[in-house]
Amino acid sequence: MPTHSMKDHVRKILVEIGEDPDREGLKGTPYRVDQALRYLTKGYSQDVDKILNNALFNVKYDEMVIVADIDFFSLCEHHLLPFFGRCHVAYLPDKKVIGLSKIPRLVELFSRRLQVQERLTYQIAETISKKIAPLGVGVVIEAQHMCMIMRGVEKQNSRAITSAMLGVFQTQETRMEFLDLILRGRTR
Ligand SMILES: [Zn+2]
Repeated sequence: MPTHSMKDHVRKILVEIGEDPDREGLKGTPYRVDQALRYLTKGYSQDVDKILNNALFNVKYDEMVIVADIDFFSLCEHHLLPFFGRCHVAYLPDKKVIGLSKIPRLVELFSRRLQVQERLTYQIAETISKKIAPLGVGVVIEAQHMCMIMRGVEKQNSRAITSAMLGVFQTQETRMEFLDLILRGRTR
């Protein structure tokens, strides 16, 4: 629940790190940090069912559906620092599909929270699995973590890659088909 105290806390943090919260450039900072944090964690107040409302369809389509290269931005729950990258989502429908535009919205809902990459990956897969009961779901996330990059851990360009494979995506063949299709589309 929004309170008026987040600004006060940010002000205290500024003092704690040795700053003068009353100097010109920092006067509006507690307010801006408050607003930014609320925006970056707005996924808490979003509802999966509202987002998917009217976007679950009965369709006779039994090929793999893939939405690749979904950009996302999240905050790691250990340091409150950003991690960001790309998410690839695929599923093999069983009578039901999700409106394609809703998949990035789902990624957004779960990434605008304090997260660890592994859980973010799993939550996206699990939600799709629950909502349309497909034959299988695969989610792969590639991300860079500012808490690794900025804090001087050596591998500055390292990416963390996580995956969640449910149902038929646990079989070698389907998993490989998914990974192949993601990699083939790689132009960026
Ligand atoms: Zn971290």
